[in-house]
Amino acid sequence: MDRANVVIIGGGVVGCAIAAAVSKSIADVFVLEAMPRVGMGASTRNSGVIHSGLYYTTGSLKARHCVRGNQLTVEFCAAHRVPHRRTGKLVVATNEKEAEQLPALVEKGRANGVEGLRIVDAAGIRAREPHIAGGAAIEVPSTGIVLSEELVKAYARVAAGQGASIVTHAKVMRLEPSNDCARITSEAGEIEARCVVNSAGLFADEVAALLKPATCSLHPATYKIYPVRGDYCEVVKPKAHLVNALVYPLPHPDHLSLGVHFTRTLWDTFLVGPTARYIEDKNDYESNPEPVEEFARRAKLMLPAIEAADLRPAHSGIRAKLVPPGGKGSADFIIERDASFPRIIHLVGIESPGLTSAPSIAEQVSAMIAETLG
Ligand SMILES: Cc1cc2nc3c(=O)[nH]c(=O)nc-3n(C[C@H](O)[C@H](O)[C@H](O)COP(=O)(O)OP(=O)(O)OC[C@H]3O[C@@H](n4cnc5c(N)ncnc54)[C@H](O)[C@@H]3O)c2cc1C
Repeated sequence: MDRANVVIIGGGVVGCAIAAAVSKSIADVFVLEAMPRVGMGASTRNSGVIHSGLYYTTGSLKARHCVRGNQLTVEFCAAHRVPHRRTGKLVVATNEKEAEQLPALVEKGRANGVEGLRIVDAAGIRAREPHIAGGAAIEVPSTGIVLSEELVKAYARVAAGQGASIVTHAKVMRLEPSNDCARITSEAGEIEARCVVNSAGLFADEVAALLKPATCSLHPATYKIYPVRGDYCEVVKPKAHLVNALVYPLPHPDHLSLGVHFTRTLWDTFLVGPTARYIEDKNDYESNPEPVEEFARRAKLMLPAIEAADLRPAHSGIRAKLVPPGGKGSADFIIERDASFPRIIHLVGIESPGLTSAPSIAEQVSAMIAETLG
């Protein structure tokens, strides 16, 4: 049986970033990924935005990791030739009531350490985005875009270059911890590890539950992830000039999403979306897609020139939410040791801004791993 210092379950952006960080100084690091390639989950089914950290509760893991992750992601992309661009973004108020909320959002962003925020008026909006309707907006210069597939691949490449093993087709099915190690059974075989990181994204709750037999009612599952799907449309080329960079509405009060927004892509179109809808099945990327007309209706609030005929359905992604349907507020990332088996570190509810936060999360988890290994 193989022996590892560290086994990371899940080869998404978070697992690969952790592997890249930890394999700098630790040998025998393995990533076990269920799918044929790394990054086939949420990590490549998203908006590809390098977020600034504007929205999140000050002091939360989301705020801290997003602000630091923004800087680290841009540095990493530059160093490893990952296509990215610091486009900046506008958060647009479409009426007076929304405009009144902008100063508080700016204050929150500043408290989180987001630099360069300022409020612009309608003329300021038009100077950047001539086709966008709105009376006032927050200009966020640190926001950018990245090719998420290339980002995940680059983290995996760096990890592999430092000696880490990235094993695909390796769905983890059993976890048997003991005092000084854990035995992990995957489709690729068995391995023992001194430290295990559960970064299985949407399935992190199910991986954590492998430690507690479901048949035992004395041990209810510790975590529960509620899948929330987001669908996108893409604007066809002749109308791609209607948006220059990133344009967001104010965040939706239900905390489900940041609202249907416009995201310039690195292939010179723009995305409209994502929507937000609780679903039953974590693998359901396709059933009952939102009609294109509905995208156009919502998009018109900020972009009156857009028509349904300008849009075509694009990809969808599934958020790993910790708040159940009908629940209030938003939840922070969970990054903690298992209560019974401290050699196992769980990362749960790593929803947006997880793509941005990945290298900062990797710093935190690397420190926890170093502490475990002594
Ligand atoms: C619609 C949408 C838009 C988003 N937009 C943005 C954005 O613009 N900017 C941003 O910063 N964030 C964004 N996010 C959030 C971001 O995509 C995620 O936070 C991030 O990708 C999470 O990465 P991960 O590695 O934790 O999860 P994943 O990418 O889901 O990776 C988890 C991996 O674990 C594997 N796995 C699962 N179970 C097992 C098992 N038993 N054994 C082995 N492997 C297993 C899966 O196959 C998967 O590859 C968005 C998310 C969504 C859904």
